[in-house]
Amino acid sequence: MNDHEAIAAKLDEVRARVAQAARDAGRDASTILLLAISKTKPIESVRAAYDAGQRCFGENYAQELVEKADALADLPGLEWHFVGRLQTNKARLVATRARMVHAVDSERLARELAKRAEGRDRPLDVLIEVNVGGEASKGGLEPDALEATLRVVEAHASLRLRGLMSIPPPTETPEASRPFHRALAALRDAHGGASRLPELSMGMTDDLEVAIQEGATIVRVGTAIFGARAVRL
Ligand SMILES: *Cc1c(COP(=O)(O)O)cnc(C)c1O
Repeated sequence: MNDHEAIAAKLDEVRARVAQAARDAGRDASTILLLAISKTKPIESVRAAYDAGQRCFGENYAQELVEKADALADLPGLEWHFVGRLQTNKARLVATRARMVHAVDSERLARELAKRAEGRDRPLDVLIEVNVGGEASKGGLEPDALEATLRVVEAHASLRLRGLMSIPPPTETPEASRPFHRALAALRDAHGGASRLPELSMGMTDDLEVAIQEGATIVRVGTAIFGARAVRL
């Protein structure tokens, strides 16, 4: 099996996991977006997944998103999501290329993205990252600060509020991630529910089944599709 075929085969396995988890949860698998996280992986790997039908990809460094998005701009239907921490001075690079930014974690970043998204032919989709892991988590807004940030996003026509995202602390077992996913779903319920916040971006390679049981609408999967990553310095 060459690399291209290996990625296609792994993608099939992940799709089967998503479908099975949806069945187990009594959900329709078509309501769950599989986002392929291609960070650190070469452009050829993205192309392989694209050839196997994958359309939505995620990156967590602005410069890497720019390089891949520009190199693959000829592929119809290809869509980029930014899932990393975004410095305001990189907001323009991302706002001009991404379909969705997952980890908006301050009013300041929301305002900067709104400014940089003006002139797009459609609004930039935005998720707010919430810290559901307490001190053990690195990023995200404190739940107390959520409502004010939601309102900033809603106040800008160049942005479209789509939901919430979290990166819980690593857990020993997938099951141990459940309280974090449940906490994000509860925050959604407390802030207007699915009509205001349709998307819940939660769950990765190890815990996507648990996340889907708890209501994930976007699972962000890297390792299970593209293989292990070298540690990035
Ligand atoms: C790298 C990354 C992922 C994918 O993690 P895997 O465990 O490789 O599936 C998901 N979300 C974010 C924000 C990431 O940075």
